[in-house]
Amino acid sequence: MNEILNMDINNMPQAKFKCSCGREHFFDIKELSIRKGAVNDIVKMANPFKKGKILVVYDNNTYKVAGKKVIGLLKANNFNTKEVLFDCGDDILIPDERTLGRIVQELDLDVELMIAVGSGVINDSVKFVTSRAKLPYIIVATAPSMDGYVADGAPIISKGYKYSPQAHLAYGVIGDIDILKTAPQDLIQAGFGDVVGKITAIADWDLAVKANDDYRCNTCVTLVKRALDNCFSMASGIKTRDPEALMALFEALIMTGVAMALVNISRPASGAEHMLSHYWEMDYIAKGCNPNHHGIQVGVATVIIARFFEELADILPEGTKELCPSHTQIAALLKTAGAPSSPVEIGISRELFYESLLNGHTVRPRYSVLQFAKEKGRLKKIADKITIEIYG
Ligand SMILES: [Zn+2]
Ligand SMILES: [Zn+2]
Repeated sequence: MNEILNMDINNMPQAKFKCSCGREHFFDIKELSIRKGAVNDIVKMANPFKKGKILVVYDNNTYKVAGKKVIGLLKANNFNTKEVLFDCGDDILIPDERTLGRIVQELDLDVELMIAVGSGVINDSVKFVTSRAKLPYIIVATAPSMDGYVADGAPIISKGYKYSPQAHLAYGVIGDIDILKTAPQDLIQAGFGDVVGKITAIADWDLAVKANDDYRCNTCVTLVKRALDNCFSMASGIKTRDPEALMALFEALIMTGVAMALVNISRPASGAEHMLSHYWEMDYIAKGCNPNHHGIQVGVATVIIARFFEELADILPEGTKELCPSHTQIAALLKTAGAPSSPVEIGISRELFYESLLNGHTVRPRYSVLQFAKEKGRLKKIADKITIEIYG
């Protein structure tokens, strides 16, 4: 029972066990390689697909830090490869019709495996296309920037709107610290913010269990909490790009994914803080602006959701409040890592902020502290109070 709690992260693929939550869990990823020098494992990981063609996708930046090495290794070992380069110059690659269509156009009939070299957008785009083409894919991570490496949803944009259709899990994930440590600082901060968001995600899950009778798996909560503690204990190393701290960050992002994959829901990773972030992002996209990085917004939103837990402390179910540190502690944690901690810092307008507090719960049908505040008739009063605190 709960065997996964005693496993090293690299041994977790294909783990199957009876859990104390009453369910049997299965971690359906074939290969994980998270270590220094992990990129060399691409040869071994891709070997079962050697008889077909391998389509490798990267952009200008990810080619330099990892794509070149991946292609070199495959060619040196006589793999049949084809490459797709997204040359976007200074523009940001967007996972829309154009990007997905380009990948489909390059997808020859004899392709047996795709390799995504990148982080958010490249990962999501390849994940989506391979899920539809029923092909396996391996992701070679280039930044500890988000928790989607082990996740079966693929956030993409269609006709200007962002949504997250079900896709599938990767065949394998490679996280090489020598590559991850070259990531831009804003992507590292984003990853840290996404991990900080797990604090309120876990508190929200507890609230949903107690106030809304939701399912919970304590094994998954333990997995995530252990990874968070390890990552937060090295928060100052995030700012200085200490490789050990970056590895702890990447492991926390992967472990959250493991927990999500075990229970087949995103509860271990996403609560009300993600609803605020998505609300802000959709507003930016609707206005044709580039939103902040996902994790940067999530980190800031976590401070706000912690404020909700404080304001509702007198009526929260027993034990829930204890799961959420104070908003000042969370803001201090973000600052230690050099990440933004206030909506003002990241350009969220007063109007959008206030609106998101009132309507954030409508982003998805998931019980959270926002829904709880609404049911108890206290949502508007708290929204007014927090907005004045921050914006005056
Ligand atoms: Zn997230
Ligand atoms: Zn369980």
